Amino acid sequence: MSTVPYSKSLKVVAEPDVLVCGTGLAGIGAAVAAGRNGASVMAVDRMGFAGGFFTNVIGFAFDGFVYEGTGKPVVGGLVFEMLERMHVVEPGQAPHLSYNVNGDFTEVEKHPDRVIPRTDPELFKKAADDILTESGVRPLFHSQVADVIVEGDRIDSVIISNKDGLVAVRPKNVIDATGDGDVAAWAGCPYEKAETLQPMSLHFRIGFVELTFELRRKCAAVLEQAKAAGRIGLYGGPWPATFSGRDIYFNVIRTPGDVTNPDDWTNAEIQGRRDAWAMFELWKEALPEFRDAYFLTSGPTAGARESRRIVGDYTLTGDDIRQAKRQYDVVVLGAWRIDRHPVQETGYHHMPMVPPYDIPYRTLLPQGIDNLWVAGRCHSATSEALASSRVTANAMGMGQAAGTAAAMATATRGGSRDVSITELQDRLVAAHAILDPASAMAPS
Ligand SMILES: Cc1cc2nc3c(=O)[nH]c(=O)nc-3n(C[C@H](O)[C@H](O)[C@H](O)COP(=O)(O)OP(=O)(O)OC[C@H]3O[C@@H](n4cnc5c(N)ncnc54)[C@H](O)[C@@H]3O)c2cc1C
Repeated sequence: MSTVPYSKSLKVVAEPDVLVCGTGLAGIGAAVAAGRNGASVMAVDRMGFAGGFFTNVIGFAFDGFVYEGTGKPVVGGLVFEMLERMHVVEPGQAPHLSYNVNGDFTEVEKHPDRVIPRTDPELFKKAADDILTESGVRPLFHSQVADVIVEGDRIDSVIISNKDGLVAVRPKNVIDATGDGDVAAWAGCPYEKAETLQPMSLHFRIGFVELTFELRRKCAAVLEQAKAAGRIGLYGGPWPATFSGRDIYFNVIRTPGDVTNPDDWTNAEIQGRRDAWAMFELWKEALPEFRDAYFLTSGPTAGARESRRIVGDYTLTGDDIRQAKRQYDVVVLGAWRIDRHPVQETGYHHMPMVPPYDIPYRTLLPQGIDNLWVAGRCHSATSEALASSRVTANAMGMGQAAGTAAAMATATRGGSRDVSITELQDRLVAAHAILDPASAMAPS
């Protein structure tokens, strides 16, 4: 491959205590927690809104929020607050209710009495804007992190590309909440990537059709027949959900590839749209319920379930999860099934259930850099463990822990490894995080 030299002095546009890269689930958690713990915070995102998966891909439910065995929460803190801000629950109610595991219709059928913690993307965008700005965070959208400058064991500057050109931010501390570990990888931190990654998916929404248990089964049957007849390729589920009662959002597309390869990501969009339209037309042809159906929207982007996994001071494993290994530096609990979407299979996959388990602070500490945290999908876990810990509620909990720690490090002028674990845990519990699984295990 040929290269070109490039050298330029860049304008420094901000010098915050904490720079949060990415305002998805982990990024919102990190930015809000850092702001509320006294740091000046800038939070950048390549999109025009915060929310990550919920808004970039269209998502429906805070998976990992509850322990399936009881329907009780295992992740509290900012997840509770976001549910309140979206009016899913009344103020103060969140810890005391019993919830459906997700918006999946099979779960609704099994537990009709439980609250669905659903996350309408437009409500989520608005709630994210409000919580960020009310916490004193300066959000900067349409700003893609493009590179980093490292001095010794610290990140000195983060280079951002936006309509102002290439500009620099010189923060004291940095949180990588990009999902793909862009900052940590470009800073030279070690990372792993599975040989076979979970597939990417473009979600889409169909309007003017009512979702029922019966229709879900019919949609699945139509896809099965079309696959057998060679009319469509790979797909997962389908997992439909509804925001209005008169629309269906489909999690069904399955495209192999690596989101950190721009060609693969482009293909996931183009192939995803082709597949989405093919499925829509099949349902319209076969099902009278789709008579008035209208293809409302796809995307905005195809989402990735797995890419770089940054290697931290500790790597969470599948055994840690199955055995519910207690960790002295627990900062968030997980309980989502080991949900590894297969690349070459179609339909529903096996997702073994797990007990509530500990996610340690050390999984947020990339090796080699002392003023950087990773939170969310790029934290330090094996591919198997990440199949559980990657989900939205856990990402937000990890972000809350990283943001709190970054503010503490700013105040003491220490590094990420100098943070007092007991003080961090005390601060998280005071902010309604759940670090003891006992309440989630207790039957109603
Ligand atoms: C198709 C699909 C379906 C899923 N279904 C569910 C589900 O139903 N329930 C569930 O709980 N989880 C689900 N997940 C998992 C979940 O989406 C993620 O694992 C979770 O959102 C992780 O949070 P995060 O904050 O780490 O990443 P994200 O939510 O992806 O946020 C990353 C943010 O960083 C920004 N960003 C990325 N790179 C840069 C950059 N270089 N510069 C600036 N900004 C950048 C992005 O725009 C985004 O806002 C699904 C994932 C996919 C892909």
